[in-house]
Amino acid sequence: MARPLGVVLTGGIGSGKSTVAGIFSKFGACVIDTDEISHSLTGKGGAALSRIAEDFGTEYIHDGSLDRTRMRELVFSDQKSKQRLESILHPMIRAEVVKRIEKCAFPYYLLVVPLFFEAGHYFDLADRVLVVDCVEKKQIERVAARSGLNEKMIRAIMNNQVSRSYRLDHADDILENGGEMGELEKAAYRLHCKYLDLINRS
Ligand code: ADP
Repeated sequence: MARPLGVVLTGGIGSGKSTVAGIFSKFGACVIDTDEISHSLTGKGGAALSRIAEDFGTEYIHDGSLDRTRMRELVFSDQKSKQRLESILHPMIRAEVVKRIEKCAFPYYLLVVPLFFEAGHYFDLADRVLVVDCVEKKQIERVAARSGLNEKMIRAIMNNQVSRSYRLDHADDILENGGEMGELEKAAYRLHCKYLDLINRS
């Protein structure tokens, strides 16, 4: 069977990536979420824990999982530790992504990569880049409601991500998510049909 078409879904924090991924999974697409894989590798019994304990010390493991708060504090202030953690996690995440792509029996996969442009790890698996987008004010409102972080903290995260205009300039497809869920679902369905059509023509 031909390799499925690879669609990478990206967007800023709170733009709606998980929401869009949920919609595409209802259409039957193979949704592969790199954040979810990362969480399972570092959650209870996760395959990355022993390497993390070896490199960082067992104090970073709490109750059988990665102590995310402690690790976040460390990597936020120490670039070397951030790179060390990434060098453990990234190859493991990628190996799992490749395994899931090999198992994908649908004409296309949707690979969710929040920091796609920033990290540059998955360019080779992206035939198309789909950006989910909304105005910054809406991103902040949504993240605040979801997480309780304040605007200053959310802006600090956004400042570590590429700009909205950079993302839009580098997108093959854009899903505008500033409105109602119903509109988003309809726009996502149109894209789903477009992907199937592109595959049929190729
Ligand atoms: P991301 O994965 O990009 O960080 P999410 O999909 O988690 O963003 O969306 C952020 C929050 O906004 C979530 O709580 C989600 O339920 C909500 N949300 C996303 N899109 C919409 C929408 N169109 N209407 C209402 N709420 C939305």
